[in-house]
Amino acid sequence: MDRIVLLPGDGIGPEVMVQARAVLDAVARRHGMELEFVEELIGGASIDQHGEPLRDEVVDLCRGSRAVLLGAVGGPKWDDMPVDVRPEKGLLRIRKDLGLFANLRPATVIPALADASALRPEVVEGIDLLVVRELTGGIYFGEPRGRATEGGLRKGFNTMVYDEEEVARITRVAFEQARLRRGHVTHVHKANVLDVSQLWMEVVDEVATEYPDVELAHQLVDSCAMLLVRDPRRFDVLVTGNLFGDILSDEAAEITGSLGMLPSASLATGGFGLYEPVHGSAPDIAGQDLANPLAAILSVAMLLETSLDCPKGAEEVRASVASTLAAGHRTGDLVLAGEERETIGCEAMGRHVLAGLEGA
Ligand code: NAD
Repeated sequence: MDRIVLLPGDGIGPEVMVQARAVLDAVARRHGMELEFVEELIGGASIDQHGEPLRDEVVDLCRGSRAVLLGAVGGPKWDDMPVDVRPEKGLLRIRKDLGLFANLRPATVIPALADASALRPEVVEGIDLLVVRELTGGIYFGEPRGRATEGGLRKGFNTMVYDEEEVARITRVAFEQARLRRGHVTHVHKANVLDVSQLWMEVVDEVATEYPDVELAHQLVDSCAMLLVRDPRRFDVLVTGNLFGDILSDEAAEITGSLGMLPSASLATGGFGLYEPVHGSAPDIAGQDLANPLAAILSVAMLLETSLDCPKGAEEVRASVASTLAAGHRTGDLVLAGEERETIGCEAMGRHVLAGLEGA
């Protein structure tokens, strides 16, 4: 029996979690998987009950599980608390304590939503790319770092550092993902200026020899940023370090135009992962059955594919989401300004996806 830990969190987190769990449960039953769901608190909900955003027991529970599904954390109620006990601290801690070094952010444009992007529909139609970002190293963590004053001038400095093992393991994640997709990896770098990028080039090339069936290209980060808006369909999997990945994953997300549709995964070694929608707790619409549950549901598809080794189930979930949208069902966030269209709530959207699964 595989244990899945559910951490609904705050705001719309619990609402989208109910729908995501129902979808995971339905797919598991169809595929004869036995899952045990354990629900726990994180973020503001945990602060209210236990005085801290994440307890040790919860981290241990997650460690003993196959995967973690998370809703969202945070909200105005906890905004004035000291930084160390804020809801977001729970998120940072769980990522660090569980060794989640690989962040996967797909950006896909479902045909029915091609109009939602700020780019022209003919540019975005058919986008299906995945940014694989190194999450626990690089310039955000490198030493030395700090501030100083020298000769009367204030200075600030950080260090972008990777060792070859850190590069190799994230590169393998990217190549494994490419095998599940269209078999193409683009390594994004700045090797014309940065020594650390030259190490990445060497190591990525070495790892590529283990995957002769996957095609590899190297792309400078500045031209990659341009190509992402000019010709995003050319990309399949992009792999890069923490800083470049932070920026490019948000750029890639933005071109799809729908925050309520974006899933993510953060992976450790051995197939363990934490899956969560990219959006936050949306306090402005919480508790009103207005949230779009599709980002959480698409996170379930990633969980099925990567932690439960059930790509068929993942495909069924994605197909059901696509057909639900093609049938015209929309939550409020998916309706364009000025568009006249009836909307449905979080629960109804979840029900449509479930119904689509039954017909799969
Ligand atoms: P947000 O993503 O919560 O909301 C931004 C806007 O998008 C809001 O108007 C919201 O109503 C809308 N929105 C977001 N998700 C939606 C969905 N599924 N369906 C329909 N509409 C949706 O970002 P924010 O407003 O900047 O932050 C709100 C809180 O969430 C803050 O406390 C912030 O710290 C937290 N946050 C948490 C995470 C996380 O848990 N991973 C990520 C980002 C922000």
